[in-house]
Amino acid sequence: MRRLAAVLTLRCPRCLSGRVWRGFISMNTACPVCGLVFDRESGYFAGAMVLSYALAVPILAAMVVALILVGGLDAVVALIIGNTAYLVLVPFIFRYSRVLWLHLDWLIDPGEPS
Ligand SMILES: [Zn+2]
Repeated sequence: MRRLAAVLTLRCPRCLSGRVWRGFISMNTACPVCGLVFDRESGYFAGAMVLSYALAVPILAAMVVALILVGGLDAVVALIIGNTAYLVLVPFIFRYSRVLWLHLDWLIDPGEPS
C-alpha cells in the first residue's frame, strides 16, 4: 500500500518519500531524500513511453466511446473532440508513466546488492 501511495503521489521508488518531480514537467536528477539517481542510463525512460501508451489508449478509448454513446456524436467528430480533450491529460500521463516506470524497474531490478 505504501508503494501504491508513493506512485500516486509521484514519490521515489526506493525511499517512497522523495519527490521525483521538482516542477510540473521537470524531474529531479536524483531523489532529494535518498539520492537514488532516476535516469539510470541513456534511454532509460524509453520504457515509460510504453507505459504512457498503455495509460493513454484506455483513457482515450473511453472518452471517444462515451462521446459516441452518451453524446450521440459521429465517430469522426468524437475522435476529434476526444483527441483534443486528451491533450489536457498529456502532462499528467507523462508524469505518471515515468514514475510507474521507475517503480516497475525498481521492483524488477533495484540495481543494488541486497
Ligand atoms: Zn528516494
